[in-house]
Amino acid sequence: MNLTASDHRIPLNDGSSIPIIGLGTFSKRSTNKQTCAASVKTAIDVGYRHFDGAYIYNNEHEVGKAIQQKIAEGKMKREDIFYCGKLWSTFLKPELVQPALEKTLNCLQLDYIDLYIIEMPMAFKAGDKIYPKDENGEWLFDEVNLCSTWEVECHPYFIQTKLLKFCQNHDIVIVAYSPLGTNRDPSWVNLHCPPLLQDPLLISLGQKYSKTPAQISLRFNIQRGIVVIPNSFNADRIKENFQIFDFSLTDEEMKSIEGLNKNIRFVNLLMWSQHPEYPFHDEY
Ligand code: NDP
Repeated sequence: MNLTASDHRIPLNDGSSIPIIGLGTFSKRSTNKQTCAASVKTAIDVGYRHFDGAYIYNNEHEVGKAIQQKIAEGKMKREDIFYCGKLWSTFLKPELVQPALEKTLNCLQLDYIDLYIIEMPMAFKAGDKIYPKDENGEWLFDEVNLCSTWEVECHPYFIQTKLLKFCQNHDIVIVAYSPLGTNRDPSWVNLHCPPLLQDPLLISLGQKYSKTPAQISLRFNIQRGIVVIPNSFNADRIKENFQIFDFSLTDEEMKSIEGLNKNIRFVNLLMWSQHPEYPFHDEY
């Protein structure tokens, strides 16, 4: 696979393709909307053509506006962009799927998106509340029969060898969320796992190639054919995360990074571990 900054799409088994790096657009509610739009525009200028978004990130309007502006400037065409949207857990009932997708299209002001996935395979009670709880503060779960695709956390501390092999044997491309080990927000991240980007091996390989630990982590995943969607709303880091096509790790270095695996998820969603469909009790 000869991936370059200007040509880094990898084929999917339905004949379409996906850029191997995308900008993750998850943001805290406190993040300024302008920051999000500016980051998407910076990313497009740098060469990103894949955007990972979701209705609950509460910024699809800004992401869509930035994409529209860049199309209007003639920077690229709609078909050059790959947008992944996500169906939230309160909309998993079949009759709610289309209205939820329409909300996303309306926010983005796009006619279509390229991929629509189930955000989490755990249904919550449908209604106005995105995070529904009862009067005692207990989560209001729901039961919906799920037949779905599931995105996969993947990075040097959680390398997913078995799942990767299964997917490769069945021509399925994995998209790795949290490829840099998350923003370590204690409200949803498992902090028992040490910060990925402070790992001594990633730092020393970075020194060898004049790259940062983040670039080494991303390169590790793309060299295994895994799509990465690092998140940053910082222009320098958005650029840095895209500069991963001008070097490659040796087989030996790939093996040593695999040796870092701890089999621990950063995103373990323990607050929903009582949900009957909680996905992480199972081995993948
Ligand atoms: P990442 O692993 O991408 O890490 C993001 C954190 O790393 C931020 O704090 C960012 O800070 C920092 N960072 C980014 N680039 C660098 C760099 N070069 N050097 C040092 N630090 C850096 O975390 P996410 O959990 O956000 O995952 C990425 C995306 O995956 C999300 O935005 C979302 O789109 C998707 N996702 C999907 C999920 C699902 O569908 N179930 C679950 C989780 C994530 P700063 O902004 O300051 O640069």
